[in-house]
Amino acid sequence: MSIRESLLRLGREMLASGAVAGTWGNLSAWDEAHRGFWITPSGMDYRVLTERDLILLDPEGRVIEGFRRPSSEALLHARIYKARPDVRGIVHTHSVYATAHAVARTAIPAIVEDLVQIVGGMVETADYALPGTLELALAAAEGLKERNAVLLANHGLVGIGNSLDEAWKVCQVVEKGAMIHAWSKMLGSPVLLNDKDVETMRQGYMTHYGQK
Ligand SMILES: [Zn+2]
Repeated sequence: MSIRESLLRLGREMLASGAVAGTWGNLSAWDEAHRGFWITPSGMDYRVLTERDLILLDPEGRVIEGFRRPSSEALLHARIYKARPDVRGIVHTHSVYATAHAVARTAIPAIVEDLVQIVGGMVETADYALPGTLELALAAAEGLKERNAVLLANHGLVGIGNSLDEAWKVCQVVEKGAMIHAWSKMLGSPVLLNDKDVETMRQGYMTHYGQK
């Protein structure tokens, strides 16, 4: 499947999952051959998007190809690709439990295996900035550090990965982790995983998880 086909498929999947409502959220995928990234357009229905609606931007956020207006968070995507050359896909959602943490300005701590394996530790909340601004782009890139997910204060979640599929998986696992954290706080005091075990699980995922 081509990069653009993957973007269209995951856009529809993201909408169907409830991670975004309407036309909010956005996703992009790095295109090594063009030294840029394909991103979804601003304010268009994911269900009717075609390849012609996607826009190819360079790492500065300038248009290489496409005629639509790119997502209002194009700068956020551009800054993350610049800060993290390992990244090949970025997904930004407004999923409920992750965003609840972003509103409370609290991290989703290292509490379960899949979360720490795919994210690399807790998910922190980046400094607040208005949507679509350079300040938000810089705060998100800064807040990610070496991890694969960051919360945008009073806004939502950004998941990244070494492929678009992994970035979407990060968003799904973070949302599930956020739900577990919220529920565990209702049941008592969540017990966090220690740093050593977090590192062991992350390394295990990086080196020999799956069919590697
Ligand atoms: Zn957003």
